[in-house]
Amino acid sequence: MPLTKEQALKQYFGYDTFRPQQAEIIDTVLRGQDCLVLMPTGGGKSVCYQVPALLQEGLTVVISPLIALMKDQVEALRANGIEAAYLNSSLSSSEQDSVFWKAKLGELKLLYVAPERLFSGNTMELFKSWNVQLFAVDEAHCISSWGHDFRPEYRQLSSLKNHFPGVPVIALTATADRVTRRDILGQLGVKKAPTFVASFDRPNLSLTVLPSRKRLPQIEQFLKKHPNQPGIIYCLSRKTTETVAASLQNRDFRADCYHAGLSASKRSKVQEQFLNDDIQIIVATIAFGMGIDKSNVRWVIHYNLPPNVESFYQEIGRAGRDGAPADTVLFYGYQDIVMRQDMINNSEQSNDQKELLRAKLERMKQYAEADLCRRRILLSYFNEAVEKDCGNCDVCQNPRTRFDGTLLAQKALSGIARTGERVAMGMLIDILRGSRNRALLDRGYDRLPTFGVGRDLRGDEWAEYLSQMLNSGVMDIAYDEGHAFKLNALSWQILKEGKTLELARYIPFSERKAREEAL
Ligand code: ADP
Ligand code: ZN
Repeated sequence: MPLTKEQALKQYFGYDTFRPQQAEIIDTVLRGQDCLVLMPTGGGKSVCYQVPALLQEGLTVVISPLIALMKDQVEALRANGIEAAYLNSSLSSSEQDSVFWKAKLGELKLLYVAPERLFSGNTMELFKSWNVQLFAVDEAHCISSWGHDFRPEYRQLSSLKNHFPGVPVIALTATADRVTRRDILGQLGVKKAPTFVASFDRPNLSLTVLPSRKRLPQIEQFLKKHPNQPGIIYCLSRKTTETVAASLQNRDFRADCYHAGLSASKRSKVQEQFLNDDIQIIVATIAFGMGIDKSNVRWVIHYNLPPNVESFYQEIGRAGRDGAPADTVLFYGYQDIVMRQDMINNSEQSNDQKELLRAKLERMKQYAEADLCRRRILLSYFNEAVEKDCGNCDVCQNPRTRFDGTLLAQKALSGIARTGERVAMGMLIDILRGSRNRALLDRGYDRLPTFGVGRDLRGDEWAEYLSQMLNSGVMDIAYDEGHAFKLNALSWQILKEGKTLELARYIPFSERKAREEAL
């Protein structure tokens, strides 16, 4: 008596019911149809091809870019009594031969392989001599240059259908906007295949954006609210992961850093310690996390702005996989945008590709600067309509009140005008607040009429409002002149022509209601 899919789920994975969409996807695959599956990280993509692999004769080939994870995935399957193996460069030739034999004899159900391995030497011919019944293309967005993680070696998969016209392909990804989805299907030569989109909503994740000033004290405050709870701090550079981890260690937190520059043994040690809760905090570059299966990560902090919404969502998605509440914090300031723009401008990409990266960055910026429910913004990015505000983001919890910021803006703009448009944010704030620091006095800025006119606001408040002004286009910034502020037509309308400006009231972190409740 062959197993039903429900029985296979129970027997091999120990689960009683399928999650939404899994059953439909499995039925589609069992009918021999191609399809594309979009499910968030932790959503349960693997079951969608592993159950069909178990129910059918023959071999399921899983194509994955993550060579480092294949071993773990295969071991997990074997622990569940499933015949699985992988092919990659870490195998000795006798180990490889034994995999070939098992595949030939039909003793394997699942075989994991990286795309470059599949297309090297005579591997493809070997595969054709086996009874391949399904291809599962994991991280399928890597095939598309419209996605955020294009990998040229994935392009070779475009010929898969030519080599195996009768074998169905299931493509899976956690991140792909509409354009990328269409491109994935086109590249794989399965344009008409149905796409299954599971909900991307993760209501247990709280969403907060904080100003990126004084990040360490803010992190310390945050950690006080999360005693001993495991979490990840993502940083842009290796150097930052090291300094942040060191500061946390100095404050007696069990923290360590993780990045691709560390030795493999150090990395696997840190990863293991984190999995076993021997260290509480991993401070990492994006090198950390792909496929990490730790379900009780209680929080994720982004120390720097990610380049796009897909990456951001994937990274925060590593929190709260067990479904219990988890908190996410993004630190954001206009310098992050500057830095990301510089990275794009200085990259080796084609102009079209740069345009795309800029557009993606712009969406990330819109999320960070949102005055609307942040979850609505995130989900709309993945083309999911949301009826109601979520109640679990900082905007929902602290709706921002607006006020007439015209006078405030005039003070700042006149400060910029009177210094000949030569000052950047720090100096401008010092002038407005009447600070008598050396650099300021040397330039004679204490004799300006604007000196000290903004004493009523603190430095962090000024920084926030200047960022808002910049973001609403009432002044410009010259990145190539030490980030000096520049006046534009709108600036002069506010200064001279009675144009008014609304700003959103800034609530410092220490005064936020949400901090007590959400964090
Ligand atoms: P993804 O590849 O989409 O990130 P996984 O396939 O690794 O996610 O699944 C995430 C977790 O959810 C795994 O621990 C998996 O065993 C579990 N899971 C998958 N399907 C179900 C289900 N139907 N019921 C309960 N848990 C499930
Ligand atoms: Zn919300």
